[in-house]
Amino acid sequence: MDDAGACPLPSGHVDAVIVGAGAAGLSLACHLASVGWGDRVLLVDDGSRPVEQRSWAWWSTGAELLAASASTAADYLWVAGDGWRRRLALAPYSYRRITGPELSGVTEGLMSARPGYQRLVGSVRTLVPDGTGCRVAIESPGPSGTRTVEISARWVFDSVGVGGSLRPPASHAYLDFHGLRVEAPTTDAFDPQTVTLMDFRTDQSTGVAFMYVLPTSTRHALVERTVFAHADTDDREAQSALHEAHVRRYLDRHVGRGPWRVTGREIGTIPLQRGPVPAAVDPVIPIGARAGMVKASTGYGFDRIQRHSSAIASCLIRGRSPAHAMPSRRWSDALDAALLRVIREDPAAAVAILSALLKRNPAPRILAFLDEDASILDQFRLFATLPLMPFVRAHAGAVRGRR
Ligand SMILES: Cc1cc2nc3c(=O)[nH]c(=O)nc-3n(C[C@H](O)[C@H](O)[C@H](O)COP(=O)(O)OP(=O)(O)OC[C@H]3O[C@@H](n4cnc5c(N)ncnc54)[C@H](O)[C@@H]3O)c2cc1C
Repeated sequence: MDDAGACPLPSGHVDAVIVGAGAAGLSLACHLASVGWGDRVLLVDDGSRPVEQRSWAWWSTGAELLAASASTAADYLWVAGDGWRRRLALAPYSYRRITGPELSGVTEGLMSARPGYQRLVGSVRTLVPDGTGCRVAIESPGPSGTRTVEISARWVFDSVGVGGSLRPPASHAYLDFHGLRVEAPTTDAFDPQTVTLMDFRTDQSTGVAFMYVLPTSTRHALVERTVFAHADTDDREAQSALHEAHVRRYLDRHVGRGPWRVTGREIGTIPLQRGPVPAAVDPVIPIGARAGMVKASTGYGFDRIQRHSSAIASCLIRGRSPAHAMPSRRWSDALDAALLRVIREDPAAAVAILSALLKRNPAPRILAFLDEDASILDQFRLFATLPLMPFVRAHAGAVRGRR
């Protein structure tokens, strides 16, 4: 210990350093600990994105490691558009939400069963592969200033892009969202068993937009408006004011009479479409958003992160390289790119496609398709319900653009 009172810095050799303890880092630590891999694993986070204020939603059949740790699980979805509204039964899926503290807590629990696992507050500065693994330089705050340590790791799982070497190019498509946490005047305003996944009954003049309602009780919910945007906005204040007016209008028109008490706000962007993701090359394996885990057409990444984490753990416990854990997603990436192109070039057609998807298919088929789990037959059934011409035009445009 080089500073009295500071937590001891690791030294020597570790089996793995996980860079970043957000969704991907915490999930991977859970999966590695649960399969019992590794004697020494270090999970490092600099605190720049505290998990306390974060949460992740996803749908699943509940088989994955973290499903039981989610505090919210709904069994129905509302989907709606102009002149139509549909309540879908999700079984065998549930729509879940895990908060940052819940994810952090389950990670602590699993790590405590593995004495060689350690969490460290610190900033990973450099990664230098050296033939047998990687030298990792970490700066960590202590009572009398920053301490620096260099350790060697057999594997590095990087959700950050340390030093820019693994940083993918900037995104050119975003989900731009603005949510209000509201408290209703009565106790029967929301059904906690039913999440509004996509409701297009909101202004579409600045791009494809939809409302999302996540109830946390019969009186409380997050009510959010999301727009597919093509650039990160320059004027967030103006954009937020506009969004908020639409959220309030939606509440009054489609949820119920106020007064609504606003207890918090969730505002942000999710980058959707980046260039090629950095390759997983021994000993540095990208994870999380930087490894392309955020699906370009939906902005959801948590389920993909779980699958990647599970596949990495499975490779390692079998003595295989975790570089093989990345699935090929050429077909779904091509579909996502085509949909984003339609969204950009023909927003009305995009709303028609998404509405047909939600109106004419059972929920399990839609969710399996979005998860890239649908059988060929189910994909065929699903495509048969969609207006496909906009896709054909988008694909033709993309091919022309490549020439
Ligand atoms: C606002 C927002 C909301 C989202 N909501 C959902 C959702 O509900 N459901 C879903 O499926 N997907 C969601 N996504 C998509 C995706 O699941 C998340 O982006 C997810 O958090 C990605 O995980 P990650 O670990 O790659 O990144 P992060 O969760 O951001 O974790 C990165 C971590 O690295 C740390 N860090 C940064 N630099 C350093 C450094 N030098 N050294 C050490 N640590 C460092 C940060 O503090 C952070 O904790 C959302 C994305 C955004 C942007």
